[in-house]
Amino acid sequence: MKKLSLLYTGKAKKVYATESPEYCIFEYKDAATAFNGQKVGFFDGKGMINNKMANAIFKLLEKDGIKTHFVEELSDRESLVKRVDIIPLEVIIRNIAAGSFCKRYGSEEGVVFDKPTIEFSYKNDALGDPLINSYHAYALKIATEEDVKTIKEMAFAINESLKKIFLKMDIRLVDFKLEFGKDVNGEIVLADEISPDTCRLWDAETNKKLDKDRFRFDMGEFSDVYFEVWNRLKECYGEV
Ligand code: UDP
Repeated sequence: MKKLSLLYTGKAKKVYATESPEYCIFEYKDAATAFNGQKVGFFDGKGMINNKMANAIFKLLEKDGIKTHFVEELSDRESLVKRVDIIPLEVIIRNIAAGSFCKRYGSEEGVVFDKPTIEFSYKNDALGDPLINSYHAYALKIATEEDVKTIKEMAFAINESLKKIFLKMDIRLVDFKLEFGKDVNGEIVLADEISPDTCRLWDAETNKKLDKDRFRFDMGEFSDVYFEVWNRLKECYGEV
């Protein structure tokens, strides 16, 4: 399948139409952004890592019965995915207190929750992705009650699979963001990407941060930790 017109330019990837209305092509860039695009950086290889890592994780999730948009890796930076209508919700699951959870509620970073939490943000850059609850999502006609029920069930199931996938790599899954879309049949599938850009990942022994927080907060070793996570994934799962 070939790339045709550019459908969308995101902060870290471009999305192209293909000759089939059922599919599109993701092209991952080396760019990194944080704080709603206010901070910008990059390193050689980031696009390749995020592409290959997201694909490997989608394949592992599919084995656990999770439906995703993933179809086929086309090159180091390009993948064929199902074309979906993205539901404009950022779905965040947390297992351990960090980031905006600590800021908002005054919680200490690193506190392990008895149960994972779920929250939704309205995916809208101009508004700064405001936090919303499910009733706001119904009012905004972003999702129906049935959609939210499916999304919650899928998100918690994905959390269980991802925790297991990362623990094998000696990594604690702190929190992460998911996006869902509806495919041509109206079925909700996991979309977007799962990578160190969208997850907080801490080394299981040392709690060293192995994710985008190193870029957000100028902690150094930004590219090194992405390569570290990618190497651990290859060691544990080989060519998935
Ligand atoms: N996240 C993301 N994209 C966003 C917002 C958050 O991928 O636009 C991820 C982030 O990397 C982290 C989790 O979602 O793993 C929770 O982020 P949080 O709400 O703590 O926001 P942050 O502290 O990143 O502003």
